[in-house]
Amino acid sequence: MSNRRKFLHSSLLGSLGLLLTKKAGAAMSSPVFDNETVTGHPVVISTWDTGLEANKGAWEVLGKNGSALDAVEAGVRVTESSINCCVGLGANPDRDGFVTLDASIMDHQFNCGSVAFLERIKHPISVARRVMEKTPHVMLVGSGAQEFAVAEGFPLEPQVLSDDAKKSYAEWLKKSEYKPVINIENTPGHTAPAEHGPSAPSRLPNGDWNHDTIGMVAMDAMGNLSGSCTTSGMGFKMRGRLGDSPIIGAGLYVDNEVGAVTATGQGEDVIRICGSHSVVEYMRQGMSPEQACRMAVEKINRIKGAKAKEIQVAFIAINKKGETGAFALQKGFSYAIKTNTVEKMVEVKSLI
Ligand code: ASP
Repeated sequence: MSNRRKFLHSSLLGSLGLLLTKKAGAAMSSPVFDNETVTGHPVVISTWDTGLEANKGAWEVLGKNGSALDAVEAGVRVTESSINCCVGLGANPDRDGFVTLDASIMDHQFNCGSVAFLERIKHPISVARRVMEKTPHVMLVGSGAQEFAVAEGFPLEPQVLSDDAKKSYAEWLKKSEYKPVINIENTPGHTAPAEHGPSAPSRLPNGDWNHDTIGMVAMDAMGNLSGSCTTSGMGFKMRGRLGDSPIIGAGLYVDNEVGAVTATGQGEDVIRICGSHSVVEYMRQGMSPEQACRMAVEKINRIKGAKAKEIQVAFIAINKKGETGAFALQKGFSYAIKTNTVEKMVEVKSLI
């Protein structure tokens, strides 16, 4: 059966039942791991274990009193560059075998830019920034985004899958369906191969690993906030599918008077509630970052009802005081924090 036929035979619902994969802590040099948040600035936080390396990249900027905007771009570029990772060109492809990438960025003055359904470009986050800074638009997609990127000097990379993605795709094609496994990093024996480096995610041998994203928000020494988010979306997604990550207000939102928020997890459900924007508004009402993230998660939980246990969503946030916080629907989500004195993973509380 052709891939297209298999796609048509596959259940769309099944494809949306994707779950988050916590990255492989096992591949890292024993990060400090606790559940205490921090307050103060400069500070940078980012989703999942890959955030530890990304935060180091951001700190190259923040630690020298650079801007939060430069920091969040530099930080997630680290993850986009990692080979065989879930974010960037090494990620799993869509159902037709093509890697398509989404990214967004927002600064402290409501400037924002995003790209979606972008192919063959290594650093979607930097293209998103160019959209923000060099065009009158907020969002470019597909071939238009790619043409813009090339015109801006971004090299067009070869259209090849990484070795891991090739294997996963071959496995996936055997059934062309999803078997969601929540927080599969907890599945014994499934950790990232050491040679993939500290940014590699865990992945099931049968290729069931199937998403991913890094979201990062930061406050610089001046007290300004910015955020970035970059993803390959869901592995084996329908061709043309966009998640929350490139959508300002859903996967990312920054209001410099209030706070900065980014999301990870099942993008469709984050979009439904304008997730990151909602969290900012909850903080504006006086909630702490964690309480505000929890409110958004509770709303998704209410909307999903019994199906909530089939998905994962999580938010991370910094408020104007430099307080950080997060909340997840399911257990198993963590985020990375870096300040002048702290560098660690935080285990995030969850509803379920
Ligand atoms: N939120 C991303 C999306 O739906 C996926 C993820 O966070 O893993 O595209």
